[in-house]
Amino acid sequence: MSIVFIEGGSMSKSKKWLALALAVALVLAVALTGCSAKTEEPTSEEPTETMTLETIESGKLLVGSDTAFPPFESMNGDVAEGFDVDLMKAIGDKLGLEVVFQTEIFDTLIPTLKAGGKFDVIASGMTIKPDRQLEIDFTDAYYDSNQSLVMTKGTAYTGPEQLAGKKIGVQSGTTGEAWAKENVEGATLVPFKNATDAFAALQAGNVDAVVNDLPVSTELLKDDDRGMEIVSQIPTGEQYGFGVSKDNPELTAAINKALGELRTDGTYNEIYQKWFGILPE
Ligand code: GLN
Repeated sequence: MSIVFIEGGSMSKSKKWLALALAVALVLAVALTGCSAKTEEPTSEEPTETMTLETIESGKLLVGSDTAFPPFESMNGDVAEGFDVDLMKAIGDKLGLEVVFQTEIFDTLIPTLKAGGKFDVIASGMTIKPDRQLEIDFTDAYYDSNQSLVMTKGTAYTGPEQLAGKKIGVQSGTTGEAWAKENVEGATLVPFKNATDAFAALQAGNVDAVVNDLPVSTELLKDDDRGMEIVSQIPTGEQYGFGVSKDNPELTAAINKALGELRTDGTYNEIYQKWFGILPE
């Protein structure tokens, strides 16, 4: 707003004073409105920490995710849903940011996050691992997981030696792939871009087994086993964390703070129960 003083000319002295008084009143009114807006109580939607400029400016928290990993993330039409999605949204509510999921191939998540510009966070059932920690930061762990071996229903599985000479479907760049590489000798590993493709290949008989995160295998075979079953639970003791660029420690701290609050206020348990049907141990 700008205030224009009319100089000299036809105005009488008293009119000039009146104009000046009005102008002063206007300036005061504007200043007071400004003040009262600033002293408003911050709502819970207000950001609690300083985030990257990009994130603040857009008001959006962009999330990269391999959305073929139920019950953590999957597409329902063109809407992402799942445990990670709800948890991320609850975190977004705490930070005053709208959470937007973008589908990415799992194997490309870390390099894309590192390159910057596409998304701020990885929420993708990603296991916290030392080699990944060299590349990106992880938030506090939010889920405990293990691996599983899935084969045709009725297979009597005795141990990894049984897999020699067999084809094992794995998801590229995952801890399941790493487990198979380390623990199975003489098998051919067949990489897939996501877990659902690996399961489809097993069902079609193109591979003999699939190694995949246990809660996801359980979910994928829940309603329709499609002739497959979990023949072995593999206790790897993994923990999932959200991934954040090493250039953005404020965001990691803000997510950790929000995650802590969600655990204390019961929201974490509610979301857990919604997707796993039980409360966390
Ligand atoms: N937890 C596994 C990993 O981090 C698999 C994750 C996934 O496929 N989305 O490698």
